[in-house]
Amino acid sequence: MDEFPPFLSKNEARTVRIGSVTIGGGHPIAVQSMCATHTRDVEATVAQVRLLEEAGADVVRMAVDAPRDVEAVKEIRQQTRANLCVDLQEAWKLAVDLAPHVEKIRYNPGHLFHTDRERPWRDKVKIIAEAASAHDCAIRIGVNCGSIDPETIEKFEEGDRTGPMLASALEHAAFLDEIGFTRFVVSLKDSDPLDVIEVNRRFAAERPDVPLHLGVTEAGLPPDGIVKSRVALEQLIGRGIGNTLRISLTVPHREKGTEIAVGRQILADIAAGRVRSVVDYDRSGLNIISCPSCSRVENEAFVELAQQVKEMTAYAKDHRLTIAVMGCRVNGPGETDEADLGLWCGPTHVNLKRGPEKIGAYRYHEILERLRAELDRLIDERAAR
Ligand code: SF4
Repeated sequence: MDEFPPFLSKNEARTVRIGSVTIGGGHPIAVQSMCATHTRDVEATVAQVRLLEEAGADVVRMAVDAPRDVEAVKEIRQQTRANLCVDLQEAWKLAVDLAPHVEKIRYNPGHLFHTDRERPWRDKVKIIAEAASAHDCAIRIGVNCGSIDPETIEKFEEGDRTGPMLASALEHAAFLDEIGFTRFVVSLKDSDPLDVIEVNRRFAAERPDVPLHLGVTEAGLPPDGIVKSRVALEQLIGRGIGNTLRISLTVPHREKGTEIAVGRQILADIAAGRVRSVVDYDRSGLNIISCPSCSRVENEAFVELAQQVKEMTAYAKDHRLTIAVMGCRVNGPGETDEADLGLWCGPTHVNLKRGPEKIGAYRYHEILERLRAELDRLIDERAAR
């Protein structure tokens, strides 16, 4: 990218090569993104990969769920030279079939517990690492606050958001080292930028040798999602933490290149000193989080709905509440548990929750009215306390 000169990482992390891109060891901070299309829709996904490449993506990720996604990835591989990363989600076994066709494999430690429950997680990670090693792939240990494994969660007090994430990442990093696989990066993502700052600082203090992939998950719609990402990245990259990043924004598929442009702009601003010297992220008002969407989105109306939720709830901007809007039934139910009000989208209906409790499922044209009624009720209840 001529517009933005490379921003060299300022840390001691070891180098990790992902196809034609190398991170760590003082190399430039790589900027990546993810396809929001259904991976098995090969034509649409190839178009999305090209769009991201043209926007300057160093690595492009796509999600896989089932064996037929493997066939799609093989076809996509034939049509692009981009550095491809597959997100295994719960389908960890697919790593064996996918590794020959991609440059990087991402697994989420929390998702390893969803299938083959009797099998120890170490066996599963070993299989992923052996596949990666045999086919010249890097690995990302992608820890997410909304999906920590139950064994780790149990060791921490309720409400501790960063402790379980840190423990999970350290445990998996130590295990990969132990089995001799060192070509990995770690990510620790949360929807709250202040938690992202804290947990990444703690990880970097303990494992400065491991490259970090930075990002605020479910940052939401622009411009708020950009602000949240900027708050976290300024504080981390400004302190020499981070080797690659992804900006997660809720935008239509055709605008996914925005994630790359925003990432490069933030890096350029940090390099030029156009940053705030003190983090002053205001958590006192209404906070709307929404996922960036991926191949699991069940109805593209989700992006429009996230925008409508933001507009409709503007009247409640001074209330300290969180509303989460998620695009699918796989991660939507769990990732909305901690929000005051949560919406997760199915093909024809949107499910409305209050905390972990389900209120009901409503058609897309009905949901805003129901959400408003619940929001008003919540505001009244808090005022009466
Ligand atoms: S909530 Fe579902 S649709 Fe949204 S990014 Fe996560 S997996 Fe994809």
